[in-house]
Amino acid sequence: MKPVADLHTHTVACGHGFSTVRENVLAAKKAGLLVLGITEHGPTIPGGPHHYLLGAMLQIPSQVDNIRILRGAELNIVDIQGQLDLDERRMSRLEIVLAAFHPGTPYRGKSQEENTMAICNAMENPYLDILAHPDNPEYPVDFKKVVKKAISEDVYLEVNNNSLNTNHPGRKNGRKNCLEFLKIGKKEGLKIALGSDAHISFSVGKMQKAISLLEEINYPEELVLNRSLETIESFLEKRLQRIKKKLQRKNRSQTQNNT
Ligand SMILES: [Zn+2]
Ligand SMILES: [Zn+2]
Repeated sequence: MKPVADLHTHTVACGHGFSTVRENVLAAKKAGLLVLGITEHGPTIPGGPHHYLLGAMLQIPSQVDNIRILRGAELNIVDIQGQLDLDERRMSRLEIVLAAFHPGTPYRGKSQEENTMAICNAMENPYLDILAHPDNPEYPVDFKKVVKKAISEDVYLEVNNNSLNTNHPGRKNGRKNCLEFLKIGKKEGLKIALGSDAHISFSVGKMQKAISLLEEINYPEELVLNRSLETIESFLEKRLQRIKKKLQRKNRSQTQNNT
């Protein structure tokens, strides 16, 4: 499979990235991509952007040099209730929303049970599209429960190329954990998204390790979001319906709680 999109990249604006939007776009073009997700970190990551930056993502044009840019964020799960570190108004303006656990953020859960609860609660957020690097060994989860919830909430799990870099200090069991959720996901029909998690333009589009892993276990290509422009376009359309449906569900449960 040759992906047409890298759905997880950062620029200098995220606080610990090194390249500009233009540099990432040029790199995406060079890599032969058609779609580039610019997904800046949520405000609670150490040195992260102010929430104003995430509210201003639409200042970035949606199309540059024939590259469709998805203006998004990689938010932080900040508690066991699965809260994300951006208000709903700003979240609603984004075109793609990733969420993950990151060290140094307010998240204080410790056990596998707490992490699983946090991640499953986060997936109920209407705006959440992709759980980024769920393999992170610092935050072990019960993959059976996570995969089941992802399918029922229409959320993608990410195979993060960075997690498969053996020299990444925080992702020692990245490969093992990715394989674990992919094996369960393959049986259940779990949808997958690929991302380089580039923090510099030279890494944009670098997803070969993730692709090799999918090939190794013969993961069904039709479950991979990055596989074609049509799949991405249909995702963008369907996510609006999903958001609407989940917002209605949320409103209904709030009304029930108030009566
Ligand atoms: Zn991350
Ligand atoms: Zn990232």
